[in-house]
Amino acid sequence: MRKIFLRRTGRRQFLKASLSGLALAALPRISFAQPNPDVVVIGAGSAGLSATAELMRRNISVLCIEGMNRIGGRCYTDMLTFGVPADIGGHWLHGFSANQIAEFGKKHKDKFKIYKDPDRSVVYDGRSKVSGKELWKLYKKIKEIKNTRTSDKPLIDLIPEKIKKNSWFDTVHKIVDGARDLGNYTAGDDHANWSDAGIGDGLCREGYGTLLAYYRKDVTVKLNTIVNEIKWGGKGVQVVTNKGTINAKACIVTVSVGVLRAEKIKFTPALPLKKYEAFEGITMNTSNRVLIQLKKKFLGKFKNDTYLYTKCNSNGAKSPKTFYGFMKMSGTNLCLFGTSGQFSKDLENEGSEAMIDFVVNDLKSTFGSKFYEKYFIKAMATGWANNPFTLGAYSGAIPGKALLRRELRRHEGDRVFFAGEATANAFQTVHGADLSGKRVATDLYISPALD
Ligand SMILES: Cc1cc2nc3c(=O)[nH]c(=O)nc-3n(C[C@H](O)[C@H](O)[C@H](O)COP(=O)(O)OP(=O)(O)OC[C@H]3O[C@@H](n4cnc5c(N)ncnc54)[C@H](O)[C@@H]3O)c2cc1C
Repeated sequence: MRKIFLRRTGRRQFLKASLSGLALAALPRISFAQPNPDVVVIGAGSAGLSATAELMRRNISVLCIEGMNRIGGRCYTDMLTFGVPADIGGHWLHGFSANQIAEFGKKHKDKFKIYKDPDRSVVYDGRSKVSGKELWKLYKKIKEIKNTRTSDKPLIDLIPEKIKKNSWFDTVHKIVDGARDLGNYTAGDDHANWSDAGIGDGLCREGYGTLLAYYRKDVTVKLNTIVNEIKWGGKGVQVVTNKGTINAKACIVTVSVGVLRAEKIKFTPALPLKKYEAFEGITMNTSNRVLIQLKKKFLGKFKNDTYLYTKCNSNGAKSPKTFYGFMKMSGTNLCLFGTSGQFSKDLENEGSEAMIDFVVNDLKSTFGSKFYEKYFIKAMATGWANNPFTLGAYSGAIPGKALLRRELRRHEGDRVFFAGEATANAFQTVHGADLSGKRVATDLYISPALD
């Protein structure tokens, strides 16, 4: 659930922002009076929109349904809070050199500015700006361990004690993976399951969510339609929702592994045991964003799209308490601060204010005690771990369970198909989810499901 916290602007504007969200929620009830489709796609994130588009292209009758009051899932750009694009989920166009959504954006130059991430950073040790040499040297060493040790073990166990004693270790710990603590991270997941045609990262000035929505503008979605059960014991499937039951020949499930693991959707009959083992082994990580609008007089010291790292010392904690910053996003006065792992989850449970305070207090210790009074305008914090439609940010294998990711991809009885980022070759990404939707729609099309 997205949480907004505004300070300077006060409660009146907070209510205004909340009410505009409610207005969106009050959409008319949906009638399923129309004939039942051949295929139901569950979820209108990157994967669901892609699967639906692919089936539409093949002239298959398809209905895409979405539990939230908007499309995009974990890739959504908030335009209301700051008046500039604020990605609350996916922001970087990973695999940039071959990212198909980026390619689409580049073809629409009148609407989108798509560009390569300049990949610049500034590093602070306390109040002093430092070269960052030590940090990047350490990062390279850990990256090398990650790339060469293919075992499905916790990465932390493969890192020599000497490296762990380095004063930059806690900072680097949080840069190695965007969402997972190294005790709960296995490079085996990458080695066994990851492949991507592209390299590098790109950015979209208008926001990745805006780009995704435009990329899929021809896909019709029934919003506010929550799936509670999928009955697949007989011929075809019956998809039971809060708005009634839809009969179809097959369905494509694109909800997160967090939602599947929590059994928010009941399968009748139950899925094969291996599938549930996969939901236990490939779990959701926590990654959250605190987005802060800052005054231009402070931001003058940064170039556009600059990463900010401040030295953290959590005494070798399992989940160091730190964040990375991304300053002046696409030249605006908006900055993104990312937290991850158990620390991020605990902070989220404390609430938006605690999340924002954590970042602001760290910025105070780096840029001076009057930082807040002098430079702060407005902030919001995300809450992906507690959002009932995601229950986490993106998937990762628990050490020892990397091979279970393959089980997620298996479809059941030529009736229940699974897509979504966790099933993608470029898992954890928007463009990977998009490709998974297309692949699964194609699998379904050539399977006996539609006979
Ligand atoms: C904080 C954060 C940062 C990220 N950063 C990046 C990044 O920089 N670059 C990148 O490429 N990726 C990033 N990602 C990952 C990326 O956003 C996801 O991998 C991708 O968007 C997932 O798409 P999906 O379609 O698989 O799933 P989702 O987007 O989760 O779509 C599934 C949809 O199903 C709906 N749903 C759930 N339950 C039900 C139900 N019972 N009934 C009906 N509908 C339901 C959900 O509401 C959702 O819309 C980030 C994610 C987060 C959270």
